[in-house]
Amino acid sequence: MERVHCIVAGAGVVGLAIARQLAGEGREVILIEVEKTFGMHTSSRNNEVIHAGFLYRPGSLKAQLCRQGRDALYTYCVERDIAHRQVGKMMIATSDSEEQQLAALMDYGEAAGVNDLVLLGGEEARALEPSLHCQAAILSPSTGIVDTHALMLSLSGDVERAGGQLSFGSRIVSVIASDGGFVVAVAVADGETYEIACDVFVNAAGLGAEELSRPLFGTGHTPRIFFAKGNFFSYAGQKPFERLIVPVGETLSRGGSFTFDIGGQGKFGPDLEWSETVDYRVDPARLIDVVAAVRRYYPEIRADALTPGYSGIRPRIARDAAVSDWLIAGETAHGVRGGINLLGIDTPGVTGALAIATHVAGMLH
Ligand SMILES: Cc1cc2nc3c(=O)[nH]c(=O)nc-3n(C[C@H](O)[C@H](O)[C@H](O)COP(=O)(O)OP(=O)(O)OC[C@H]3O[C@@H](n4cnc5c(N)ncnc54)[C@H](O)[C@@H]3O)c2cc1C
Repeated sequence: MERVHCIVAGAGVVGLAIARQLAGEGREVILIEVEKTFGMHTSSRNNEVIHAGFLYRPGSLKAQLCRQGRDALYTYCVERDIAHRQVGKMMIATSDSEEQQLAALMDYGEAAGVNDLVLLGGEEARALEPSLHCQAAILSPSTGIVDTHALMLSLSGDVERAGGQLSFGSRIVSVIASDGGFVVAVAVADGETYEIACDVFVNAAGLGAEELSRPLFGTGHTPRIFFAKGNFFSYAGQKPFERLIVPVGETLSRGGSFTFDIGGQGKFGPDLEWSETVDYRVDPARLIDVVAAVRRYYPEIRADALTPGYSGIRPRIARDAAVSDWLIAGETAHGVRGGINLLGIDTPGVTGALAIATHVAGMLH
């Protein structure tokens, strides 16, 4: 049986970043991906926002790695000429209770070392964004957007240049700990299955990570992963805001965020729809709720300017986004030598990917 040093499962942005990091350290790496190419799931179905790092509970992995990942990502984008723009974001409140949530986020930001946040009153916010109606806002100048496809293309090129291999159309069907390493069974497109041994196995399979984790790391180290689907609605016409507009609280989960991609195409969403399966169809009926959420801060919104766009699924280890952290576990946690298990890598996984990769490499040293 062929043996390599390291196998990474899943070529989303996180698996690619980890494979790049490990191959760059001189390790022999194979990245195994079931789809025909990289980034076919969550990594290409998101807002493409480079988060500043003030949205996450102090002390959480998300808070730590988002901030580090943001800086690493901006640097990487400049070095590799990856399209990105530091457009800034306004996190807005439209009621007294939402204003209190903004105050808590200012504290989160301070704890995470995000020290460029500015708290604005309603009029100050409107002076910057004339179409915006809100009571208060946090201006985050270091939030940006990135072309995630270009990012993943660059990461995959780095993997190959460092001698790593990408194996597409290959589904990992089982992983067994054996002889101080692992035996990985892989099914390829023609129905054939082969086995390959490795010393290090990294589970970065996103929505498929729970399935690989349970038999290998045990039920006690494999929380149930909830699928938090988010639907997007494309906005036709000139974008109404120059910055990203993100409401706090319920308006956010009802799909009230406004973001745009690097080409300037605006969209509203994601909303929150719990799902049991990977089904990316967008139910047009959800549009009504999204429009109602957006109206709270942009009363002029016309429902006929929105059309169902795409959706993505956030894997979460808890239903409550405020407590659902990333789970990145190594031998000290689960006892399986050479195994790294990543579960619940939801937002801000694009922002945090390079920092997650450094973190994983540190766990293996
Ligand atoms: C609606 C939404 C909005 C978001 N917005 C943002 C944002 O603005 N900014 C941000 O930073 N983050 C955002 N995120 C989060 C971010 O997209 C994810 O955290 C990130 O893409 C996760 O990457 P991943 O590599 O872990 O997962 P994935 O991209 O899902 O990759 C996992 C890969 O594993 C493969 N796989 C699964 N099982 C197997 C198997 N058995 N064998 C082989 N391969 C397998 C899959 O095919 C897949 O390609 C958002 C997510 C969603 C859903």
